Amino acid sequence: MKNWVYILFFFVSFLEASAQHCGTVATEDQVEYLRNFEFADTRNMIIAKGIVDIPIQFHIIKKTDGQGGVEMDLLKKHVDQLNELYVKANLRFVINEELNFIHDTRYYDFDYYDEEDLCAKHDLENAINIYCVNTIKAGYYGYTYHPLKNRKKRMLMSSIGWKNNSTFPHEMGHFFGLYHTHGKGGKIKELPEPIERDLDHDGNGVIDCYETGDDLCDTPSDPNMGLKKHMELCSQNCTLEGKIPSEQGGYYEPEITNIMCYNQHPNCRTNFTLEQYAKIAQTARRERKDIRVVKTTKGKSLKGAVEFVMEDQTPMPVDLDINLYRFENTYKQGDSFSFKVGNGTEERIFLGIINMDFRGEVLKVFPYAEDASFIKPKSKINPLGGLISLDNGMQDGKEYTCLLFGFEPINVETIVSQMNLLDGTFTQRLYHVLGNSLLPLDNVNYRKGNRISFDAQIKSGELLPIMLEMKQEN
Ligand SMILES: [Zn+2]
Repeated sequence: MKNWVYILFFFVSFLEASAQHCGTVATEDQVEYLRNFEFADTRNMIIAKGIVDIPIQFHIIKKTDGQGGVEMDLLKKHVDQLNELYVKANLRFVINEELNFIHDTRYYDFDYYDEEDLCAKHDLENAINIYCVNTIKAGYYGYTYHPLKNRKKRMLMSSIGWKNNSTFPHEMGHFFGLYHTHGKGGKIKELPEPIERDLDHDGNGVIDCYETGDDLCDTPSDPNMGLKKHMELCSQNCTLEGKIPSEQGGYYEPEITNIMCYNQHPNCRTNFTLEQYAKIAQTARRERKDIRVVKTTKGKSLKGAVEFVMEDQTPMPVDLDINLYRFENTYKQGDSFSFKVGNGTEERIFLGIINMDFRGEVLKVFPYAEDASFIKPKSKINPLGGLISLDNGMQDGKEYTCLLFGFEPINVETIVSQMNLLDGTFTQRLYHVLGNSLLPLDNVNYRKGNRISFDAQIKSGELLPIMLEMKQEN
């Protein structure tokens, strides 16, 4: 599609900021599409959520004779770094094992007018399609598209874009709905974002920082650090040198370490804010909900069930949020329950159980030295041996438990000690520590209700997590 609108947008964005290397541009219909950030529970990044798996399909462009092209090890390293950042948005990126190599010199040094010619026949519907070319016209490190109905799920990355640590998470930020911290750019007409965080000029009940600039309030107003007159103020050591007065009075204090900032030193861009994480998380679950892993890998079958019952045998029903089970009822001091874990396979399976209390401390629950750490084929165990009583001195709050299953012994102590070094919710810490070894969602059938059951395809070294949240109130 050689659309003049695109041509104009690229031209405009290139002119307006000579120090930047991102070719992603917001459009008015897309801004409208995303302008419904919910000020509700979905924004609360302190509440533990299930972790969404997002598939990435790499398309690697080489010269016709097979020369050139980015190395897979480098891409893997970048995806690992991406996951360390994005786990805080409750996302994990999973690389499709089958890489797509395109041998065609025409696209090696890439002109964005050729995007449809190159990509249309290779795009996968339910993955982020990342095309790795040698260079992109006009020197862009990369570009992608903000979410919009039926828009292509594409990102273009040039070799130079992989040479720093922020271009990839920056473009992914756009893909999940973030704008530059200095605003939407392109041809979007709106008032400049005020420095003050509590103004409501148009009296519509929404404070201005939520509807100007990047539509977020915990990213300070940013005068565009990519402009020639400002760029030298971002120093090598990632500090802001000098003051930038605002036309509306006062001085700008942009967050120049933000991944969505046009800091001239890409490796100074290292963080997102909580609201940016919340926006990414919400976009992944809503505007990008069609991007999910599909069944691709095969392994050994691992089947089993976990069943919780109250002392009087009343069932304890659970609901499922992606891959986090939540007990539907609230429990209180004095309640006692027990649980059984069943192995539905013909082989022994190993079990590890960890728990995080309301203070955020992670503990090993199972196995203890004297416990066998596995469940025999086609049998059931009661891992804690009897009733668990919610004890005296218990406080209101949420407790988290994870049962880990695998075909090899599980080093629970190491997992626990590493989780205790991290910030974040239970699910975020677990995924941060175990990363790629946790089974992708597509390989598990999770069933909820009074009895949790699972049926998965698992490969050597992988672990199947059953994560649970229990609310306690006295
Ligand atoms: Zn950008």
